[in-house]
Amino acid sequence: CGQCLAVCPTAALTEVNNVSKVWDAINSKKYVVVQTAPAVRVALGEEFGMEPGTVVTGKMAAALRTLGFDKVFDTDFAADLTIMEEASEFVHRLEHGGKLPILTSCCPGWVKFFEHQFSDMLDIPSSCKSPHEMFGAVAKTYLAEKLDVKPEDMIVVSVMPCVAKKYESARPELGHGGTKDVDIVITTRELAQMIKEAGINFNELEDQDFDNPLGESTGASVIFGTTGGVIEAALRTAYEWLTKETLENVEFEALRGLDGTKEATVNINGQDIKIAVTHGLGNARALLEKIRAGEAEYHAIEIMACPGGCIGGGGQPYHHGDLSILSRRIEGIYSEDRAKTIRKSHENPMIKQLYAEYLGEPYGHKAHELLHTTYTARQKM
Ligand code: SF4
Repeated sequence: CGQCLAVCPTAALTEVNNVSKVWDAINSKKYVVVQTAPAVRVALGEEFGMEPGTVVTGKMAAALRTLGFDKVFDTDFAADLTIMEEASEFVHRLEHGGKLPILTSCCPGWVKFFEHQFSDMLDIPSSCKSPHEMFGAVAKTYLAEKLDVKPEDMIVVSVMPCVAKKYESARPELGHGGTKDVDIVITTRELAQMIKEAGINFNELEDQDFDNPLGESTGASVIFGTTGGVIEAALRTAYEWLTKETLENVEFEALRGLDGTKEATVNINGQDIKIAVTHGLGNARALLEKIRAGEAEYHAIEIMACPGGCIGGGGQPYHHGDLSILSRRIEGIYSEDRAKTIRKSHENPMIKQLYAEYLGEPYGHKAHELLHTTYTARQKM
């Protein structure tokens, strides 16, 4: 069923292969931009015989350019944008007595599960679109204007670790002015298929950079790819906004690792902010049932459908339940974070430029129009 396919972390159910759609797009007269999710870069190399967790960001950008995309961008940029909006929403709810806990909303497998199973609690997830959908909305407005390309002449392709993102991109509310935010989603495995079909020697590629302005990202954005990363990234920003102080140690160890549910308490301006992280839908259900029953109190919760988060997504090279593969991908993600000079989303210069030139205030009118969404109560299955 659609829901199972949307939430299936192992992709055991039949998925539609979109490779031919992407080839058709590249060979059309349309302007085709591609974006790649944080978790793809630490797993794609496995399809070419590399060790799990090998970071292939530069080779991946080079391969995408060789495949013929007009621009090669990074979903990590949009992950930074997600933090700007999600941290703003959290601060707003905290300061104005809004509904808490806030739940992260970047995992469509989890969102669909929530819409079916917890439809009485639709007012607690963040209204933020997921990063690749935010990217699509910005590409077809801000970027299209800059490039002088009509939004209807632009095709946005997402390379995701995820099967559920295919379903997500078809949600009718995720579009603007008659065009969808994202037109085609392919998985990490499908990208590998394209690289092989094109006869590219992936292992020999020289590293290349992403294009700009939607290719610049921080360490906070890359950790979106692992369980605990989204809320850690949000904390790095929310802490500084609320305290007006510099956060020296950006690594929230208690939120890391493969335990099913993790917790941390962070003191902000004298208030204990309680955070929870869970991954895997069984763990998520147990936590949410406690919240529904009033047995657990948190300020913010991150939920990911796949065990390990997106590094263990259904579109990634198969890991056959080998947790050491997930751990090595996670280490790859954290090494990317440590290697970045900027590790807080609100310090991304391209994000600052986007707000200054186009969006206005974070969580403001234009941001709401482009970057936020709504949820639908669906029948329990
Ligand atoms: Fe997709 Fe990541 Fe959610 Fe898995 S955890 S369903 S890969 S968004």
